Amino acid sequence: KKIVIALDGYSSCGKSTTAKLVAADLGYAYIDTGAMYRAVTLYFLEHHVSLTNPREIREALDSIDVEFHYNPKKKRNEVYLNGLNVEDEIRKMYVSNQVSEVSVIPEVRRAMVAQQQKMGKKRGVVMDGRDIGTAVFPDAEVKVFMTADVETRTKRRQVELLEKKQLVNLDEIRDNLLKRDLIDSTRAESPLRQAEDAHLLDTTHMTIDEQVDFVLERVTS
Ligand code: C5P
Repeated sequence: KKIVIALDGYSSCGKSTTAKLVAADLGYAYIDTGAMYRAVTLYFLEHHVSLTNPREIREALDSIDVEFHYNPKKKRNEVYLNGLNVEDEIRKMYVSNQVSEVSVIPEVRRAMVAQQQKMGKKRGVVMDGRDIGTAVFPDAEVKVFMTADVETRTKRRQVELLEKKQLVNLDEIRDNLLKRDLIDSTRAESPLRQAEDAHLLDTTHMTIDEQVDFVLERVTS
């Protein structure tokens, strides 16, 4: 029987790396919900949408189409904003610096959550984000809440950005992670928090294989 696996947690503690590998192992779809909020943020930035103007926000959301398409060459899902591949653009720092402010907006969350619930309706998905186990799929069969100490997360993120040829210093990365964690966990609408029935996974001293095994063990037990 196909299930929903919800991976939530703080920024840069290995959610997407783990989710991708768990999904591949089970033959499930992997859905990166952070990419959806990032794509919306990119649209808001490009169109200078005011974050305090309800009409502008509504019109923007009506004009935004976020989709995932599988790239067979890279063997991964990539995110498209109104038909354009924005997979690389949304990972840049200027998007990271705005995404939590956009993700606070209730109308934005409502639109994204509805789409995510549709994508997972048939189960057989691994979804990573901040509110999957608490708001998107409170009935997910397996929930894992991931964390790691901030220095570990900062260094991992720097390596990840370097692989994309983005040189960002540790202070800027750390500030961004801490700022996002703060906004994400204190917002009114579905804040980042561990669901009561989620398993806590601290990845500070773990290898990727160990993280994947931790999740897979919860699936089979
Ligand atoms: O997962 P990622 O770090 O790419 O997410 C970027 C941002 O999107 C988070 O910091 C958070 O503000 C927002 N987000 C969210 N709810 C989710 C996934 C991401 O609010 N389910």
